[in-house]
Amino acid sequence: MERYYQPEIETASRETIVALQNERLVKTVRRVYENVPFYREKMIAAGVSPDDIRSIEDLHKLPFSYKKDLRDTYPYGLFAVPLKEVVRLHASSGTTGKQIVVGYTEKDLQIWSDCCARALTAAGCTNEDIVQVSYGYGLFTGGLGADGGAMRLGATTIPASTGNTQRQITVMHDFGATILCCTPSYALHIAEVLHANGMTKDDLHLKAGIFGAEPWTNEMRRQIEDQLGIKAFDIYGLTEVIGPGVGFECCEQSGMHINEDHFIVEVIDPDTGEVLPEGTQGELVFTCITKEAFPILRYRTRDIGVITRGKCSCGRTLVKMSKPRGRTDDMLIIRGVNVFPSQIETVLLEKGYSANYQIIVDRANNFDSIEVQVEISNEIFSDTVRGLAERAKELSAALKTLLGLNAKVTLLEPNSIPRSEGKAVRVIDKRKLLD
Ligand code: ADP
Ligand code: ZN
Repeated sequence: MERYYQPEIETASRETIVALQNERLVKTVRRVYENVPFYREKMIAAGVSPDDIRSIEDLHKLPFSYKKDLRDTYPYGLFAVPLKEVVRLHASSGTTGKQIVVGYTEKDLQIWSDCCARALTAAGCTNEDIVQVSYGYGLFTGGLGADGGAMRLGATTIPASTGNTQRQITVMHDFGATILCCTPSYALHIAEVLHANGMTKDDLHLKAGIFGAEPWTNEMRRQIEDQLGIKAFDIYGLTEVIGPGVGFECCEQSGMHINEDHFIVEVIDPDTGEVLPEGTQGELVFTCITKEAFPILRYRTRDIGVITRGKCSCGRTLVKMSKPRGRTDDMLIIRGVNVFPSQIETVLLEKGYSANYQIIVDRANNFDSIEVQVEISNEIFSDTVRGLAERAKELSAALKTLLGLNAKVTLLEPNSIPRSEGKAVRVIDKRKLLD
C-alpha cells in the first residue's frame, strides 16, 4: 500500500490546494514587495502592485526572475528577512557560471525537510530504514537536503557524502544501508566499483534509491535498478527554489509530483514568456509561496519539461512534471539541429552501451562537429579493429536516424572517461572557448 508523509496535502482535492496557493501567493507577494527593494522596483517597472495579485490567476502579471538577478544582487540582495533570522546558507554548485547564494530560516529548513520526507516516503522509506546520503554535504543542497528528509522520518541516516567509493561500499555493506541517495551517475559508479570488488547487489541490503540533481533517462534507471537490485526514484529541485524535493517520484515512476502547497509551477514558452497549457513542453517556472528567507517569484529554471494533472495510481493529487530533458543551456545546436544530451544517452543505452559517455562539440572553418565518446566493455574492446569500426558505424547510423545528425563515434576502453561523484560532465563544448 502506498504511504504518504503528509496525506492531507499529498492527496488533497484540487480546491484545497488552489485555496492554499491563493492565500499564500497573495501574502508572499505583499511581503516580498515590502521587504525586498529589488522585487518592489521590478514590480513598479512592470506596472503591478500587490493589490493586483488576488489569486493564482494573477500570477502571470508578475515579472519573471532570472539567475542573473541572483548574481546582480549577490550575496543577500533578494533575502526577504533580516540576516539574523537566517540560520543556513547554501550556494549553487555553479554548473553554469558564477555561484549564487540562498538563505533559509528555521521554518524554511523544516519545510524543505518535509518536502524531502515526502520523497523518501514515496520511495518506501520509513523510520526502520537506513539511508545512505551520498550527495555532497556542504554548500551544495543535495547532502543536507536529503539528510533533513531522512531525519524527519526518523530513519537512520548515514551522512556518507561523496567520494571514496570503496569506503562508500564498505559502509553500505557493513551498516546495512537500505536506501541510497546520490546522483544517478554516481549510483552507476558505485555499482561499477562494487562489481570490480567481486561483489554483487546480493551482498547489499539496498531496496530503493532516490536519485537527482542531473538529468537521467529511463534507460539509465533500468541499468541502476538492475545493477543495484533496487527501485530507482527521481527527485528534482534547484538551489534557487529550495534544493532537492521540489518534485519527487512515486511508485508509478512516471514523472514527479510537485509540492504544490509550497511551489507554484508554470510552463512557459522560453522565447516569448507566454504561459503554455498543461501537457505542452516548455520551460518550468517556479514561485515559492511559503519560504521566508528566499521566496523567489516566477523563477525561470531553464529546465525543459511538461506538467500533467491526470490521475496518478499512487493516489497523490499533486501535479506531475515529466523528467526534465535538460536545461535550455544544455541544449546543443549543431548545424541547426537541436539535441539534448539525454537523447544521445537514450540511443547509447538502448544499443547496449554503458552510461559512461561524453559528447565533444567543436567548430572548425565555421562547421560544427559532434563526437560521441562511449566506453565499451573489455570483451568488446578486444574485438578486431574491423569489428570495432563496424560497431562505431552502426552506432553513428542509429544516432543519425534518431537525431538527424551526423556524429562521429569513438569507442573507448573501460575507465577512460573520468567518473563523477556529483553531477556528471556530459558535454565538452569547445566552441564556447572560441566565442
Ligand atoms: P547548479 O545550477 O549549479 O547545477 P543546482 O544543484 O541547484 O546547481 O542544480 C539544479 C539543476 O539541476 C536543476 O535546475 C536541473 O537542471 C538539474 N536537476 C536537478 N534535479 C534533476 C532531475 N531529477 N532531473 C534532471 N535535472 C535535474
Ligand atoms: Zn503518483
